[in-house]
Amino acid sequence: MSDFQAITYEVDGAICTITLDRPDVANAQDTRMIDELDAAFDIADADDDVRVVILAGNGKHWSAGHDLKALVGDTEPDEWRLMRKTPEGKWFHEKTMYFDRCLRIRDFRKPTIAQVQGKCIAAGVMLACMCDLIVASDDASFSNPVLRMTGAGVELLVEPWEMPARKAKEFLLAAETFSADDAERLGMVNRVVPRNDLATTTRELADRIALVPPATAQVVKRSINKTLDLQGQRDAYDYHFQAHHWMHNTATALDALEARQAKGSMKEVFAEHRDE
Ligand code: ZN
Repeated sequence: MSDFQAITYEVDGAICTITLDRPDVANAQDTRMIDELDAAFDIADADDDVRVVILAGNGKHWSAGHDLKALVGDTEPDEWRLMRKTPEGKWFHEKTMYFDRCLRIRDFRKPTIAQVQGKCIAAGVMLACMCDLIVASDDASFSNPVLRMTGAGVELLVEPWEMPARKAKEFLLAAETFSADDAERLGMVNRVVPRNDLATTTRELADRIALVPPATAQVVKRSINKTLDLQGQRDAYDYHFQAHHWMHNTATALDALEARQAKGSMKEVFAEHRDE
């Protein structure tokens, strides 16, 4: 377990805490982190003492999303970087590493709670929403401003399931940032607490869930997820993933990608798309 570099893994009683641990880059998700998360959930699944998993983030921010810098730079494994150079490869990369890995967390047998502070952006929102419950600190904020950069959202379009459709359109099309209070009002977040109380509140909630016999909790979780599937969530996710990829391969997106790669830094790229 101590082999992990991009996350930490701890078990205390019936509660397992998996923590995103790249605070210097706002817990941007690179291949290593995504692989380690997947492995950590496998360990938590196999450990009968673990009843509830908390997904936390170390540092000021929960997650800035996918590590785009690693993708365009030279820190990602060669096989993925090279693979992403063709549309087929990019599809396979995002399907296996983003789409499938996220849904594995959504379908994880035991109840999960995301413990979110600071910024939660794009694929950060996607990851948090894979958890069954979300507890946010009062300094948390949620945004998915990728449309201005041609992205058709991220790989899973969670927004219409996390908030009313009209608010989802505002969130995505207008690149609005929603505060923790906004997110709670919309039903996307279960609780908002002061930053200093975030870990204890999440833990108390996890302890309450751990009082339910594991089999019962798992059956009910699965049944609620099945209800969402019967409302079309799984099909809508599938549809969006294909649409997202169609968008990646349009002239609109490819020209923008080329222009972006000609820029010196990611900072310059993002600067263009900010309001201020
Ligand atoms: Zn994508």
